[in-house]
Amino acid sequence: MRSIVPRRHRAGDPRPTRTGGGSPALGRPKPSVAPNPATIRATVLPSAHATRGPLVELHPVTDPKPDPNAVAPSVRDLETIVGLSKRRGFVFPSSEIYGGINAVWDYGPLGVELKNNVKRAWWRAMVQERDDIVGLDSGILMHPQIWVTSGHVAEFNDPMVECATCKRRFRVDEFAGAEDLGPKELLDPGIVARLGLACPNDGGPLNAPRRFNLMLKTFLGPVEDEAAVVYLRPETAQGIYVNYRNVRDTARKKVPFGIAQVGKAFRNEISPGNFVFRMREFEQMEMQYFVRPETAADYFDAWMPRRKAWYEAYGVSPERLRFREHRPDELAHYAKKAVDVEYRFPFGWKELEGIHNRGDWDLGRHSKESGENLEYFDPATEEHFIPWIVETSAGADRAAFTFLIDAYREEEVRGEKRVVLGLHPDLAPYKVAVLPLLKKRPEIVAMCHRIKSDLKRQTMAVYDDTAAIGKLYRRQDEIGTPWCVTVDVDSLEDGNVTVRDRDAMTQERISADQVTRYITDKLDAARPRGL
Ligand code: ATP
Repeated sequence: MRSIVPRRHRAGDPRPTRTGGGSPALGRPKPSVAPNPATIRATVLPSAHATRGPLVELHPVTDPKPDPNAVAPSVRDLETIVGLSKRRGFVFPSSEIYGGINAVWDYGPLGVELKNNVKRAWWRAMVQERDDIVGLDSGILMHPQIWVTSGHVAEFNDPMVECATCKRRFRVDEFAGAEDLGPKELLDPGIVARLGLACPNDGGPLNAPRRFNLMLKTFLGPVEDEAAVVYLRPETAQGIYVNYRNVRDTARKKVPFGIAQVGKAFRNEISPGNFVFRMREFEQMEMQYFVRPETAADYFDAWMPRRKAWYEAYGVSPERLRFREHRPDELAHYAKKAVDVEYRFPFGWKELEGIHNRGDWDLGRHSKESGENLEYFDPATEEHFIPWIVETSAGADRAAFTFLIDAYREEEVRGEKRVVLGLHPDLAPYKVAVLPLLKKRPEIVAMCHRIKSDLKRQTMAVYDDTAAIGKLYRRQDEIGTPWCVTVDVDSLEDGNVTVRDRDAMTQERISADQVTRYITDKLDAARPRGL
């Protein structure tokens, strides 16, 4: 969950970063122990790196204990996904020709389609198909007082230790033996001696823990000395809280109602890594649901299964998803309750999304500090109250990464390896590829282009003639294209083409005139509804 102290515990390797934001080296620290999370049964309500260094940080699978649920990850190692991503144009290291910049990744032609599709699918479920939630796009830069009021200036930090010799920094809670400690214990000056901690990089001595604020600062105004210090938002949620009254009044919304937002967030993470899992610039998909105080627990219980169901509806294996409730000493000071939706990544069970009952903390604080009345008047009961907030907070990059990992499979077809991305059609970068059986026949190529142009008016379609048909199919399988349309010599005579299904590998002959309709019908049929 969002980590205003106390920062929630996370299992995994300490991943080093140099003092001053230089390039990190690969650390091989002691493995830490995975937490033993509680599985929760949900109740559904009837209603409702710019320096040289390694570009890709990969960390070994770090679950030293047997996985409590014995669930295997979809891919054994991250290299498979990183390799595919680079090779096929999903994700590139940012600023690569200059050696890269740590924990920032760029999305290539296929990656941007995938991530846009993930954000669209979220928006469809959270805004478009609902009457009680509306959207917002607030600024990345906001009044600096907002981050004081929210507690981020004072509290948005991780307890960190620094090596006296190599100057690398590590998060205390990622050392073996520190995983289950509360925030006070993590900041105990005696913790290094007590747990016998040493630098995972060079074995050097570590200094006493201190707080490291994760917010990135910049200056607003033309003259730096006189300019105001502002922050790059570390979460999108605050933009929603400060717009709560404007949205409520203009959209004429009555409690309960929600405000959803998708956008960039920035955190100066001490331990970034594991590809796009933990970045310093990333995107969030957050929704804040404003409710009467006494109903917050019920709405929390309703949102939990709904959010897990969203990942499942778009293809994530249910056995690789679970809930984990935060222990009382893990809860942020504002949180009444927090449950993470976790996914079984190749590097362990990790948070995908947080669901939080934030009480009246946010609107209460902003009301008090701004002097503006943010109370809600309920005409039915004639009561004034500060609405409580149930938040669902997901990462767009983490979700896209999860869909990519979970969709990956290797099969043997007629003695040959076939790599398939079994992405849900709504998430697949291209929905359909149009392929000529004989590219030397101009009539066939022309027919392909006619079909493709018609398809492109409705959806993402691509033409490829740079290999033999078998290889063209494999290429599309590897990037998750659900359907391929092939034009052959017979097509010129009878006007029919072959549609091949990615998963079943079946082939169907249909009229060329019907291709666009056929594909849009299939897409429509596959689309999850009512999530
Ligand atoms: P983590 O424990 O993994 O650091 P968090 O508890 O700090 O996450 P929240 O503050 O609850 O995360 O943010 C909500 C969501 O935003 C997370 O569930 C995750 O999907 C995403 N997110 C948070 N930090 C990052 C990051 N550094 N890189 C990519 N996605 C992130």
